[in-house]
Amino acid sequence: MESVALNPATLSGPVWVVAPHPDDEALGCGALLAALVAQGTEVWALLLTDGGFSHPGSRTYPRVRLAALRLEEWRRGLQVLGISPERSAALGLPDGALAAVPPEQVTAAVRRAFQLAPPALVLLPWQRDPHPDHRAAWEPVRAAWNTPVLGYSVWLTGRGAAADWPVAAEAQVLTFDVTPHRRTKAAAIAAHRSQLGLIQDDPSGFTLSAEMVDRALTGPELYFRPYGQSVD
Ligand SMILES: [Zn+2]
Repeated sequence: MESVALNPATLSGPVWVVAPHPDDEALGCGALLAALVAQGTEVWALLLTDGGFSHPGSRTYPRVRLAALRLEEWRRGLQVLGISPERSAALGLPDGALAAVPPEQVTAAVRRAFQLAPPALVLLPWQRDPHPDHRAAWEPVRAAWNTPVLGYSVWLTGRGAAADWPVAAEAQVLTFDVTPHRRTKAAAIAAHRSQLGLIQDDPSGFTLSAEMVDRALTGPELYFRPYGQSVD
């Protein structure tokens, strides 16, 4: 697949990174976010769901407690990347069931958040990133603000089918080398302890595999710029 290197100096803020779940921003965009902050770009973060569905069978972390923990982890991970809690917003929509929320309700809530700092660019999981909540986010978030977006990949490399990737006419593929920011990205991912084995009493609960973390830290990060919009 043909690709070009993404130069963060060509991106101006405010940049909003939209995460359906706490950890998507770290896994998908941690290096780029660290680079943007380092160059002085204003970066904001928006969390769509409460993240409370990752361990539905846990007795020690029932949903409300888990959601509170995940919000705390999210803010800690953002701080590692240089994004202060004052530049974040969390909508608390239902994890695992974003597609069941009326799209216009998602759009309205996202628009209210974006009004805190009108975005010049939105980073959002690619429309066919293979997770139902990620896919459900694309249209309603794009409808919230008339601004360029870059789709980012969380699960595409590991789990995506051929048809999930952008076709040539659909989007330009941009890559971002994680090497200069690997340690920062690793620390941001590590903040999400609930996804890394902290919760032991739900065998069916979700754990980020070592392979997934390795892939996120090896990179490159992938961004897809849909044609028919300008991003500068
Ligand atoms: Zn996610």
